[in-house]
Amino acid sequence: MQRYAVFGSPIGHSQSPRIHAAFAKQCGIAMNYDAIEAGHADFAAKLAASGVRGANVTLPLKEDAFALCMGNASTRAQRAGAANTLIRDGDSWRGDNTDGSGLVRDLTERHGLDLRERRVLLLGAGGAARGVAPALLDAGIHSLYVANRTLARAEALADALGEPGRVHPRSLDDLARLGEFDLLINATSATRGGSLPTLPMALAGRRSAAVDLSYGEAAVPFLAWARAAGCTQALDGLGMLVEQAAESFLLWHGLRPETEAVYAELRARNDGLVTAD
Ligand code: NDP
Repeated sequence: MQRYAVFGSPIGHSQSPRIHAAFAKQCGIAMNYDAIEAGHADFAAKLAASGVRGANVTLPLKEDAFALCMGNASTRAQRAGAANTLIRDGDSWRGDNTDGSGLVRDLTERHGLDLRERRVLLLGAGGAARGVAPALLDAGIHSLYVANRTLARAEALADALGEPGRVHPRSLDDLARLGEFDLLINATSATRGGSLPTLPMALAGRRSAAVDLSYGEAAVPFLAWARAAGCTQALDGLGMLVEQAAESFLLWHGLRPETEAVYAELRARNDGLVTAD
């Protein structure tokens, strides 16, 4: 039996075991997929001891995972400086980052958004923001404003992306001066223990779409703000969650699973879900 797992902390609420079990059943692949609690101190040891052929990595370990596969990471993982997918390569690991393509696939294919030439605001500069930013640029957006509580992290992300004409780091205090955006993305974990920062209504208008990378209760405040600000679409991160998982599955097994049934099942249970991936 092939073994796979997701590593992170906290990991108890992760939907990844359920998603990958559904994909494996659909594709006729016999495998085990576990959720393994691990932090910075014990991640490498637990990964080595687990005997897995592939792993997903979530908060707070994406940068640790990237460090483990530094010489053998995909271009998109290098641009993100973070890996969410590890593929065993002999005695070492190959790394990739499927968060960005998962988000773009969800927005464009499931929700019909055209990202080309869009003015985009990305709130947050942590692991998730680093993962999605390169894919948004590759999808043809016009410009990306990265606004973060800690300005230095927004600046570091902008530097790593290497497109000074298109990427603009800002602090949250600057939000009132940025004008209206076509797409607003909440990639902060602010509502997972604190509260959403104050967001000026002028950031959004009737042509704007908003997406929170979280789902369940954690997504409620930002999506409520987006609707109040007049956004035509207010989406949560469930679709991205399923699509990034499908992309990881493709990397491990060479097959892209159908995602719609898994997405529909998670959507039906959304109210009881806790953001964990
Ligand atoms: P990180 O811990 O790496 O980054 C957290 C980010 O949130 C930082 O930019 C941090 O700012 C900001 N932040 C935290 N608290 C506050 C606050 N009170 N006010 C303002 N900003 C705040 O987390 P991730 O990037 O990995 O995850 C972010 C979110 O995305 C999580 O909810 C996660 O579950 C979700 N996610 C969803 C995925 C999906 O598939 N749907 C995939 C990956 C993540 P600072 O730098 O100042 O600390």
